[in-house]
Parts: sequence; structure tokens; C-alpha cells
Amino acid sequence: MARGTQPEVLIAGGGIGGLSAALALALKGRRVRVLEKAAEFGEIGYGIQMGPNVYPILDRLGVFKRMAPHVVYPDALVLADGITGQELSRINLSAKFRARFTHPYFVVHRRDLHGSILEACRERAEIALAPSQGLAKFSQDGDRVFVTCEDGSEHEGVALIGADGLWSPTRAAVVGDGAPRLAGHFVYRGLVPTEEIIDRSHLDSMVIYIGHHLHLVQYRLRGGTVMNNVATIESVRFARGEPNFGTPDELEEIFSQCAPRVHDMLRYISRERNWVLHDREPVTNWTKGNVTLLGDAAHPTLQYLAQGACMAIEDAAVLAAEVARHGDDFNASFLAYQQQRMNRTARVVLSARFFGAYIHAGGGARMLRNELLAKRDPDDPWEADWLYRGIEIPE
Ligand SMILES: Cc1cc2nc3c(=O)[nH]c(=O)nc-3n(C[C@H](O)[C@H](O)[C@H](O)COP(=O)(O)OP(=O)(O)OC[C@H]3O[C@@H](n4cnc5c(N)ncnc54)[C@H](O)[C@@H]3O)c2cc1C
Repeated sequence: MARGTQPEVLIAGGGIGGLSAALALALKGRRVRVLEKAAEFGEIGYGIQMGPNVYPILDRLGVFKRMAPHVVYPDALVLADGITGQELSRINLSAKFRARFTHPYFVVHRRDLHGSILEACRERAEIALAPSQGLAKFSQDGDRVFVTCEDGSEHEGVALIGADGLWSPTRAAVVGDGAPRLAGHFVYRGLVPTEEIIDRSHLDSMVIYIGHHLHLVQYRLRGGTVMNNVATIESVRFARGEPNFGTPDELEEIFSQCAPRVHDMLRYISRERNWVLHDREPVTNWTKGNVTLLGDAAHPTLQYLAQGACMAIEDAAVLAAEVARHGDDFNASFLAYQQQRMNRTARVVLSARFFGAYIHAGGGARMLRNELLAKRDPDDPWEADWLYRGIEIPE
């Protein structure tokens, strides 16, 4: 398809959110230019969980079939007490789960997900991909948006979508609510061949060992050949206002309370890099004229519901549907999109904080939590309907 002369929608950021939006808009016949700060479009080399709420969107975008050979479907989500190593409860992810939520829960390597969206974008003549184009500033004049990039290059479009992540400069101009909130939680990751895993008791499941101020997640990727390991700590030093928080030695210190076989899993975790967790208070407006936000730029969340990228993908689908409905009135499209996304994404942000505190509980709170978890029915995922049943998106 020729790119034609229709004016472009500009998207700042080519992560999972920005590329999903580009693809969804292209499928509605819009010309799009994705301005990505990095020299190459890409993702980090670790896993990501995807709830059944995003399956139909990825399917409709033609992305799911591209990554299907690499997707893993865990048979259960197991919660185990990191202090004793004992299983506390599980959610079966097989037949009854799929029947309830229509679609499966799956895990995938981030590069397989992002790469599949990127590949689909590259095949669309409506999409121009522009690496090394970090948005520095923008201005609006009537129905035009003008973006200036860090290297001085300029782009003109009919609208701008800021999908430029946690530290979004687009958000700074649209919302202006300063830096995101530093949660004091730190993540270390590691990917190892599955054959190196010593404790093989939950190989087919996704398991989360939970303890005071910590948890460790394991699930397999790429046809089960590699194990994704993620260790998170809620820094005690940070909470006390002490220096050197979230460091590898604090990781060791906090995990020292765990059962030896759980503590031993730190051997799979790299100390070379950590991820510093942030979120934001939900806001009531992230749109200004023909400029809006999407994904982490709009509603960054802690990862405890494993839904940040899922929300970005949902955002993309809703936004494209609203653009298709409102024609060239981008402000109306963006306000309608925002209206649909605000409470759902706020609920994810606030529920993720709560779930983090729940799994990181210690003392009496831990005893209560364990008792409540033990009573759960593995075939009745508690309070997940609002999230996993997904959203209605018009064709
Ligand atoms: C430890 C951890 C585990 C997680 N697990 C899950 C999970 O299991 N499931 C899930 O759904 N979510 C998960 N998430 C959340 C998920 O990773 C994010 O919500 C998601 O990646 C956000 O996508 P995005 O496209 O909005 O932002 P990003 O992925 O941050 O992409 C932003 C893009 O914008 C680019 N950019 C930045 N500045 C500029 C600029 N000035 N101009 C142009 N481009 C710019 C960046 O280079 C990047 O490519 C997890 C997060 C963490 C930290």
C-alpha cells in the first residue's frame, strides 16, 4: 500500500505500547510515524506475562500468530511461602480458566513480543519507523503538532501520542506532575537454560515465592528451553532513609530469611543490573489538544499484577477505535479514549500497590495472608473478572 499524502500521526516511543498503537492505527488506515529515541527498536532480553485480556487484541493485530511458536502456557500460577518453601495456593490456568476468561494466560520473551509487533509494523506501508529520534519538545498550532527531536530534526503531524515511557518528556509537557514516585522496590533478573535449574518442582507452572519484603518469580520461555527468574526486594534501607539501598548485598540480606532451596535460586539472578520501580498517582487528564499519552507515559504501574504492557496494548486498541470513530477530530478521539482508560488503568495501578504489599507481608500479616491463600479455590481466580475478562473494542 502506498503511503499517500494523508498527514501523519506522530508517536513518540517505539516500545510495546507505541508500536501497538502504530499498528492499530495503520489497520484503521492512518499514516503513522514512530519517533524512537534509541538507535534501534528493541526490548530487554527477559520474559513478560500476558493476561487473557490482551490475547484477543494481539490476535486481531496479527501479532499473536507471529510469536505463537515461542509462547509458553503455564499450567498454573503457584504462590509459595519463600520462608518455608511450601506451596500456599495455586490458580489453575488450564481448561476452567480458559473457559472463564475465553482466552489463555501466557508468557513470552519480550523480544519475541516486541519483535513480532515490529515485524508487523514493518510490513505496513502506512508506518514509518524513525530510530534515533528522541522527542525533545513539541508545540501545537491549530490542527497541527510540531515535534523537535534531540538532534534538531523536526516532524509535523496532525496529532502526537506520547508512548515514551516512565520518564516521558511528552507527559512533562501535557501533565507536568514531575518525576514518577520511587517505590523503593528493586528488581534483579536472570535467564538461564532450563537444564541448569536444580529445583524442578514447578517446571510447568509459573511460581512466585513470597516473603517479607521480597518475592521471586520463575517461569519458562521459548518453548520451555530457558527459565526466566525475577527477584524483587522492597528495600528496608530505602524505607529507613539509609544510603546504598537496593544493592546486590541488600538483595542477599533480604533473601537470607528464605528456605535454603529458595535462597539458592538467587544463583540464577544476574547482579549486573537492577530495575528501580516507580509508579504514579492516577491523574484525571493526560490529553492536551491533539496530544495524548499511552502506556507507561500515561499510567505507570508497579509490576505486581503483570499488567503494565497489557494496559499499553489495551490503550492502543481503544485509541485506534476512537480515532476511527471520530475521523479527524483528534482531540475528541483522545478525550474519548482517555475516558475509557482512566478508571481501568487507575485500578491496575492501585491494585498492584496493594498486591505488592500483600505478597511482601511479614509477621502477623504474613500468617493471615497464608491462611487466606490456603482457602482459595484453584479454579476460582479471586476478583480477576474485572481484569481478565478484558474490554469491548469495536471492530
Ligand atoms: C520488573 C518488571 C516486570 C514487568 N512485568 C510485566 C508483565 O509481566 N506483564 C506486563 O504486562 N507488564 C509488565 N511490566 C510492565 C511493562 O514492562 C511496561 O508497562 C511496558 O513495557 C510499558 O511499555 P511502553 O511502551 O508504555 O513503555 P516503554 O517500554 O518504556 O517504551 C518507551 C519507549 O520510548 C522510548 N523513548 C523514551 N524517551 C523517548 C523520547 N524522548 N522520544 C522518543 N522515544 C523515547 C524508549 O526508548 C522506549 O523504546 C513489568 C515491568 C517491570 C519493571
